[in-house]
Amino acid sequence: MRKPFSFYIAHWIGKLALFGMRLLRRTGSYLPGAIALRIDPKYLSHTGKPDLIVMVTGTNGKTSVCNMLRYFLESAGQHVMDNREGSNTIEGLASAFLTHNTWSGKSPHESGVLELDERSAIRIFPHVQPDVLLVTNLYRDSYQRNAHAEYIFDILDRSIPPTTKLVLNAEDPISGRLALQNERVYYGIPLLDGECEQRHPRFSDLVYCPVCHRDLEIDFIRYNHIGRYHCKHCGYSSPEAKYHVVSFDRERKEAQCATDEEKTIFHTQTDGVTDLYNLLSAAATASECGVPFSKSAEYSKTLPPLKSRHHEEIIHGRRFLSILCKGYNPVAPARVFEYLQAQPGRKVLVMANGTEEEIVENMAYLYDNDYSYLNDPSFFQIFCCGERYLDYALRLRMADIPEDRIVLSRDYAEIPHLIAYENADLICLIHDVSDVPWVRNLLSAIRKDMEQLQ
Ligand SMILES: [Zn+2]
Repeated sequence: MRKPFSFYIAHWIGKLALFGMRLLRRTGSYLPGAIALRIDPKYLSHTGKPDLIVMVTGTNGKTSVCNMLRYFLESAGQHVMDNREGSNTIEGLASAFLTHNTWSGKSPHESGVLELDERSAIRIFPHVQPDVLLVTNLYRDSYQRNAHAEYIFDILDRSIPPTTKLVLNAEDPISGRLALQNERVYYGIPLLDGECEQRHPRFSDLVYCPVCHRDLEIDFIRYNHIGRYHCKHCGYSSPEAKYHVVSFDRERKEAQCATDEEKTIFHTQTDGVTDLYNLLSAAATASECGVPFSKSAEYSKTLPPLKSRHHEEIIHGRRFLSILCKGYNPVAPARVFEYLQAQPGRKVLVMANGTEEEIVENMAYLYDNDYSYLNDPSFFQIFCCGERYLDYALRLRMADIPEDRIVLSRDYAEIPHLIAYENADLICLIHDVSDVPWVRNLLSAIRKDMEQLQ
């Protein structure tokens, strides 16, 4: 395609803006892309693209999965571009192409692994059509931004290009039914040995059969609406997974996974099932992009951990964990609570996953989350912090958590002084984005206090 002159102006000015941002030591994740799109609204159509484009979207797990997927493709020798430094909106994607493409606008990469904001799909797909699209899951998310799961489903369903191959979660009957005309494969984790079902989640985004809207029969529910179902009225049933887990040894952090042709052992970074979903989905997608499943299994042994998402260290015999967990999301915190409840020892939990200045008026996310996991005597201090500290405390009391285990601290700076370090085997901080100063300060203050213990 012959590129219009406005494309070159957009590309060069965008690249100069990117260069300027770097000189100022600012991340050029939004602005350079926004400038390029202002000059050439079809910048993304005109700019050069890798031969293979894979996009990853969904409510939870996008960033982790993109990192794994990129690692698998790179380990297999592919030269991969990504948007890890930028945002996952149209401006962020434009910034990523500005960063990676040459001055003449050509892409020097064989493949691209791009994280895609669900809501931005409708603006991006007309210009960049992924060859493969992985959708991790669809749940209700920040109500202010995403309304409800059906709203996001409709945006994706209307905009996914017909040529895109889908990699979908067999246990998510919502995202699993996206763009039904498209070619697709599924990945899935059947109910594992010793795994507890959660038949009565606090909320489920799926109540009735997605086809005939009558009552569904449940085969099992893992959490929220994630599970397997069938409908005796219309014959709907959860799809069979091409890539699936056979068994999961949580202690050894090894999962036996299989396709129709082979069985292989993957190494997992944690013993949590959500991380296993991330790993399996990344390996399934890599396989659809030509990297053999068994090769990804081999690469999983050396997969670098995402420190900003899940960081663990032992300080003077005490475990310190910091876990990134979206603040206004009704799913992610409950998954972390479940994980923490299963950990041994006496625990302190600092819930610092609000923002410093609360802007969300709708507090429903707090009530949709399942705090009952924290009603366990092993959590002897649970910190409610930030502007919404009293809302959090009320929520904990509604989950019957005794008052003497709840610590109120509106001021983040106060928290380290209130932690009963001596009595704790595990101190866990859950936080939203980690690159804001108060999270960084809190992390280092807790770590420093722990280092001073004898
Ligand atoms: Zn039905």
